Amino acid sequence: MISKTMSRLAGNNSAIRAMFEEGNRLAALYGRENVYDFSLGNPNFPAPDAVKDAATDILETVDPMSLHGYMSNAGYDFVRKAIADNLNGRFGTDFSEKNIIMTVGAAGGLNVILKTVLDPGDEVLTFAPYFLEYGNYVSNFGGVLKAVAPNTETFQPNLDAFREMLSPSVKAVIINTPNNPTGVVYSDATLRALGDIMREKESEYGHEIYLISDEPYRELAYEGVEVPYVTKYYDNTFIGYSWSKSLSLPGERIGYVVIPSEMADFNTTFEAASIANRVLGFVNAPSLQQRIVARCLDSKTDLSGYDDNRRTLYNGLTERGFECVFPQGAFYLWMKTPVDDKEFVQAAKEYNILVVPGSSFACPGYVRIAYCVAKSTIVNSMEGFGRLAEKYGLKKV
Ligand code: PLP
Repeated sequence: MISKTMSRLAGNNSAIRAMFEEGNRLAALYGRENVYDFSLGNPNFPAPDAVKDAATDILETVDPMSLHGYMSNAGYDFVRKAIADNLNGRFGTDFSEKNIIMTVGAAGGLNVILKTVLDPGDEVLTFAPYFLEYGNYVSNFGGVLKAVAPNTETFQPNLDAFREMLSPSVKAVIINTPNNPTGVVYSDATLRALGDIMREKESEYGHEIYLISDEPYRELAYEGVEVPYVTKYYDNTFIGYSWSKSLSLPGERIGYVVIPSEMADFNTTFEAASIANRVLGFVNAPSLQQRIVARCLDSKTDLSGYDDNRRTLYNGLTERGFECVFPQGAFYLWMKTPVDDKEFVQAAKEYNILVVPGSSFACPGYVRIAYCVAKSTIVNSMEGFGRLAEKYGLKKV
């Protein structure tokens, strides 16, 4: 008999995955080009050439015993140093290799962080709508995830509700900016106010409350929108970063965690997080990928294709009368549904349009539309969206 938690998870496989399977079913019936699948956050632009060049050169020139060997749990010193220098150059921070731990993507990084800070029964707060995997990551360590209700005007965190929920049982707070699923980037004012509330409660309760910033979409911000660097707002901050989206490398599982020197009990915390990497079974992040990203710190996926998709989708939907949040970052558009979100998702399938219900992000009444797809998918889906708008009597703008 397997564990109760895992048999429950196996039983209700996520709605996103179910949607993926539905996409394949519809494609077999109607042809792939006639299915408008906006369900998955898988980058659709290839990794920059610099990635392939670096991989080839590393495989040809680095001694295989050193290339493929074990290393310290935090990762290669020279890779961590290169990342620290790059961050310092871009954000005016003061990191060294001692502040960076290489991880198996952002997901691996979040699990390392939560393993480091949580005791069973500790509460973790996050802001709805949120990436539902957080619930699994938190429960991996016996924690309890609670979501702060959204501010549906702006989808910036609802800080009044947050203050109310920030009880002495809360050990950590997870934020995600640029945000999946809303595309919102948390502003300087938001982060300042969030930091102030957390500092106030830390001193009131007399224990640390950790801020965990999940940032796989940091490099995906449009039109010069600035994504503030979170360690500047609050000392007890962990950052979880990955190259899954910024270099289109989701399958390679490479990222890092930042632990700033201002963190309470810095040395012990850093050591504990390195050990968490080991005892969770990651041991260290993939060695070839570490070396590759160290050579590609200035490379980026070209954002112009995502940006074009973003505008085409937003304009197309709003022209048809849908209410949408104009995305500032990531590659998701968050749209209000004229009826119950699950009902809307079913109705959209009639037109071969696949989108994810807001309920899958703890925020019913909306859908997430991932625009990391071919532009033709967006253009050709508009007839179906138009029919949906008519069906629900939406007024054209
Ligand atoms: N956090 C958020 C908000 C995500 O959307 C994702 C992936 O889609 C992850 C974390 C996991 O990213 P990674 O592939 O780096 O583990």
